[in-house]
Amino acid sequence: MSIRFYNSLSNSVEDFQPVESDRVRMYSCGPTVYDFAHIGNFRSFLFADVIRRTLEFFGHDVHHVMNITDVGHMTDDSNADGGGEDKMESAAQRIKEDKKSGKVPEGAVDNPDDPYQIADYYTKAFLEDAQMLGLKVAFEPENILKATDNIDIMQDMITELIEKGHAYVGPDGVVYFSVESFDDYGKLSGNTLENLLSGAGGRINETDQSNKKHPADFMLWKADPSHIMKWDSPWGTGYPGWHIECSCMARDRLGKDVIDIHTGGEDLIFPHHECEIAQSRGATGEDAFARFWMHARFLMVEGEKMSKSKGNFWTVRDVLEGRATGINVHPAVLRLELIKSHYRSNMNFTKKGLQDSANVVRKLTEFRAKLEAAADGQTAEVTLDHPILKQFGEALADDLNFSKAIAVVLPWASSEIENPAEALAVLDKINSVLAVAPLGDEVETAADEGGLDVDALCKAMDEARAAKDWGKSDAIRDELQAAGYDVKSSPEGTVATKRLA
Ligand SMILES: [Zn+2]
Repeated sequence: MSIRFYNSLSNSVEDFQPVESDRVRMYSCGPTVYDFAHIGNFRSFLFADVIRRTLEFFGHDVHHVMNITDVGHMTDDSNADGGGEDKMESAAQRIKEDKKSGKVPEGAVDNPDDPYQIADYYTKAFLEDAQMLGLKVAFEPENILKATDNIDIMQDMITELIEKGHAYVGPDGVVYFSVESFDDYGKLSGNTLENLLSGAGGRINETDQSNKKHPADFMLWKADPSHIMKWDSPWGTGYPGWHIECSCMARDRLGKDVIDIHTGGEDLIFPHHECEIAQSRGATGEDAFARFWMHARFLMVEGEKMSKSKGNFWTVRDVLEGRATGINVHPAVLRLELIKSHYRSNMNFTKKGLQDSANVVRKLTEFRAKLEAAADGQTAEVTLDHPILKQFGEALADDLNFSKAIAVVLPWASSEIENPAEALAVLDKINSVLAVAPLGDEVETAADEGGLDVDALCKAMDEARAAKDWGKSDAIRDELQAAGYDVKSSPEGTVATKRLA
């Protein structure tokens, strides 16, 4: 079966084939570790995860690398030429406030003026979040690369770019990439030099441009001895630009000048990915850096843009710990919610959506438990020719159509199963991509939380029903439902089960 993905470079759906048949090489832009990652960030990280898992589903060996940006990501990151302050260093003030409010706990980031402590704290937090949400690469320390551990290869590439005439040292001592030296600049984003100069989207800084050959020339290295994170270099003690890290780490760790897939959020298309392409191709002389550029679109919350001022700027922790919706959410439920809508549509994150995802996760978890009991230790082998896996795979191969894939699984999970051992093997294969069932032990404990004596309330509801006190029975039902329980009454009595979201 051919796998088809949308390639942002050609603006079309293309058949995917790896450059080398034995291995898929894939790079994903990871977090800038100056704050907790929000659910929009994680939509993009999980999008990369399901690309990888889909390729593995079809038997590909995938080498997936993700970076951690812990230096050089500037505050004016939507401008062609960057600029502003390093986000790591400008985070100090906010973290001091977050420590006062308790958002950053006591004992963490002892010295917020030390960007290494900031990076360390938020890197750990990111990896914890990522592992909870089943991001496979987060379990592979060798494939998670920190920018600050790779300064030497960045200096090597900058030297290479200067030698090849793609970079120069400006009168201000900053090393710039010369955008005019690279003919294909703008091909990915449409922000060609012509468009930029005519003011498209105000993507050029208004500040003094006299140090640069072209206003869109962007920083590769900045000599700045006052910067706390700094390294010696042929161009003075200072720090690297944000874009160069990804070009270098992808090439170095994946071991090829041309990789198969590069992913990120759509906000990274310009300037970050445009600049990565210019640097990588400038250095290697190849006609491509990544064959496929794949981008996940924005996430909205209840139909609105996520923003700190609107109070709907949710981190993963806010959702899991109930601050976003008022109900604790299991990580598997959040994972499904973030992967189920198509990556090329803006995603609308809603409480209703979480409830739907919780129902799917619970259904698959219960189905699995039922199959396990029926299979009674027996196992079976299945191939992708199994009718359910065939349909599931077809949906994935069709540019990652997860809603269609899930729509294959749900009716099957409700159907009469003749061979439980075989069905279990099918479900395991499906779950190698979805990674949402089984849920594990936390669910049982989560169901006991909430401070309600659920058994006593169910009993009281049965007594009220027996006495035909419908008002009281309804009131108890409302109380249970408000606390996140599904309530079912039958002649055998009332049963309340905790919803997962
Ligand atoms: Zn990147």
